[in-house]
Amino acid sequence: MEFDGLLETLRTDVLSRTAREPHPGFMGYVPSCPTFPAILGDWLATGYNVFAGVWSIAEGPNAIELAVLDWFRQWIGMPEGAGGLLTSGGSSATLTAIVAARHAVVGEDASRLARLTLYTSDQAHSAVVRAAWIAGVPRGQVRVLPSDKAFRLRPADVRAAMAADRAAGLVPLAVVASAGTTNTGAVDPLDELADLCAAEKVWLHVDAAYGGFATLTPRGRELLAGLGRCDSVALDPHKWLYVPIECGCLLVRDPARLREAFQILPDYLLDVAPVDRQVNFADYGEQLTRQARGLKIWLNVRYFGLAALRTEIENGIARAEHIERMVREEPALELLAPAQLGVVCFRVRPPDMDDPAELDAFNERVNTAVNATGRHLISSTRLRGVFSLRACVLGFRTSMAEVEAMIRSVLTAAGQLHPTLELDSRRSATPRDITTATR
Ligand SMILES: *Cc1c(COP(=O)(O)O)cnc(C)c1O
Repeated sequence: MEFDGLLETLRTDVLSRTAREPHPGFMGYVPSCPTFPAILGDWLATGYNVFAGVWSIAEGPNAIELAVLDWFRQWIGMPEGAGGLLTSGGSSATLTAIVAARHAVVGEDASRLARLTLYTSDQAHSAVVRAAWIAGVPRGQVRVLPSDKAFRLRPADVRAAMAADRAAGLVPLAVVASAGTTNTGAVDPLDELADLCAAEKVWLHVDAAYGGFATLTPRGRELLAGLGRCDSVALDPHKWLYVPIECGCLLVRDPARLREAFQILPDYLLDVAPVDRQVNFADYGEQLTRQARGLKIWLNVRYFGLAALRTEIENGIARAEHIERMVREEPALELLAPAQLGVVCFRVRPPDMDDPAELDAFNERVNTAVNATGRHLISSTRLRGVFSLRACVLGFRTSMAEVEAMIRSVLTAAGQLHPTLELDSRRSATPRDITTATR
């Protein structure tokens, strides 16, 4: 078949059936909004079909990956010597970390798996619990501890749970802290957890998948204080560093831990065994054949420079704060979690509606109606059981005017579903049509 027809089919029947993550109105989940240089880096890695599993086959791209990892190490504040690898995403990075932690504790002795425990909060990403399962921590021994009022893990609870587990003959494997939870952007008390883990000699992994790059900004750096003290950290360049899917990263204080856990030298790969300071990234995780993901990060960061990236990340934080302000000013809206690291949670609260189940159902309908406009996509979550609208506004194409339009869209939907609702007339005007402007 000719390209023309095939591409037309992809355009009309296939790619039309996707939510456009880089669209300015995409404010759901955690948006991935890549820049052109980053996409070009991805195309080059794909077109050259680089095999980045071992050093000798792809020295150039592998050196770029090392350089990029070292930038991240410095941004995060980890000591020299820390290293790791780029992965498909944050889930893979966290799984790789937990497997390395497991190897450090039980080594080859599989009989000890049944005693392992892992500690995280009820706000941790599902990838954390899943990584623990896959790594062989018994499901009943993954301690998902209730978070505090600000949705953070309480170190005292971790300490108590660990003491109880040790007393019962169990073996604490790791604490997984969140630095930017998916629900609300909350950051666990990293310094205190690092102290605790050092005292208990337990691996501290930090899931900073979406939030970690905020460390480039002064505000983010404050919120993420202590991040560099972890044993390992997961980052997602395909979220807040504006590179295309797939791109995650794992950094480990002592990369030898990765090699110990993952390195195998089969006969057919002896001729590519690394020497001196060469790194075979295939020795650091589960992937042998892997894309040269460093290229897209390198082009993106070198082309724009850190100042531009810092500004865009700051803008994302400011957009969420702007939403928070609008929610606080609008009597029909209720803030459920303040803006933090680009995320904010709220709901519509008609004054004559008090029943929790009715409020949940109503806000679910509002969410559906907003998304059905095709102009904005917001997602939802449940905060302590309460249905919440959730906006995550990291995309660099999302302007302040755009988040204002989203709030108008929420109010318009709420007004249509609940005609007696009194709305602030300044905002309930018909949303400006952005569709044609951004196509
Ligand atoms: C996105 C995310 C993950 C999962 O990462 P993937 O890249 O989707 O595999 C884990 N934790 C947090 C906090 C995230 O935001």
